[in-house]
Amino acid sequence: MSILVYVENIEGDFKKSAFEVVSYAKAIADQTGDSLTAISIGQVADENLSKLGNYGASKVLNVQNEQLKNFVNKAYGSILAEAAKSEQAKVVVLSNSFSGKGLAPRIATKLNAALADGAIELPEISGDTFKLKKSAFSSKAFATEELTTAVKVIAVNPNSYEVKETGGSATIESFTPSLNQDDFSVIVKEIVRATDKISLPEAEIVVSAGRGLKGPENWGIIEELAEVLGAATACSKPVSDADWRPHSEHVGQTGIVVSPNLYIAIGISGAIQHLAGVSSSKTIVVINKDPEAPFFKVADYGIVGDAFEVVPKLTEALKKFKN
Ligand code: FAD
Repeated sequence: MSILVYVENIEGDFKKSAFEVVSYAKAIADQTGDSLTAISIGQVADENLSKLGNYGASKVLNVQNEQLKNFVNKAYGSILAEAAKSEQAKVVVLSNSFSGKGLAPRIATKLNAALADGAIELPEISGDTFKLKKSAFSSKAFATEELTTAVKVIAVNPNSYEVKETGGSATIESFTPSLNQDDFSVIVKEIVRATDKISLPEAEIVVSAGRGLKGPENWGIIEELAEVLGAATACSKPVSDADWRPHSEHVGQTGIVVSPNLYIAIGISGAIQHLAGVSSSKTIVVINKDPEAPFFKVADYGIVGDAFEVVPKLTEALKKFKN
């Protein structure tokens, strides 16, 4: 018996969530006493595949096929279900990412498995029963579910489980799935990137701004700081609601959950709904002109000052530091 974990890549590099789900699956495997097999689909180099050993996978199945270079929901679902059967997996773990949201129910149906999507904690395991907490309705509610089927599928929310290195190593095996024409009834012909910006859920540094910036015309100072730091940009909900910034940048309870090494919050009050999306950041820096702003309570470093004065000075200082 084994635990199977699906690892997503972008153009051959694993996403941060890939290491999260391997760490999550490894913690389950340690409890159940099963081996952990990872499966990768697409053009990923062996040196990247072998990195998965360091997070707890003892074997990596590598599916390389020109037709599978781009994500195809139906085909990927068939491959993962086939691999789960051939590995006698009793649990399939994947990220509850955009593609994971489509894949998880497909795999669960094919395996006649119970599905927990949006898992935010490890399951409590008692015999064949897994009890686990998941978020629902964009984290407005939480549910505890019991999975009692022989095979279980768990889709883990990105940034909800910490990556853990184990120092282990993995063997790499190629896996050739038996796909048919029907699996390719939808084909992705081309992927056009909407932006070259760093992806927010994956970012190690995030520069985020709120209503304190007064209007969209003032975002130049935020983008400049982000560029100097190699950071992604984010915002509070009212900012995206007002169309100052795109909704894809909205962080918090009803937006994206981030977990960067550094989160810089500029002109954001620190409402509880915003903090819900940033509280697992390693270091939080707050810039706010109100010393009583609630965000300072969770800040590692705080600057009380006007963003329009502080941010350009910070950017200039960082530019000098870099040169
Ligand atoms: P404000 O609360 O208006 O704060 C602006 C801050 O800027 C203030 O602290 C002010 O002191 C400071 N400031 C003003 N001028 C300057 C200056 N020149 N320099 C420096 N600082 C300055 N919010 C989210 O962000 N994410 C969510 O996911 C989210 N989900 C929600 C879900 C529900 C069900 C509800 C009810 C609310 C939700 N909200 C969410 C909204 C949340 O409650 C707050 O209203 C919101 O986060 C406030 O945004 P803000 O901090 O940008 O604006």
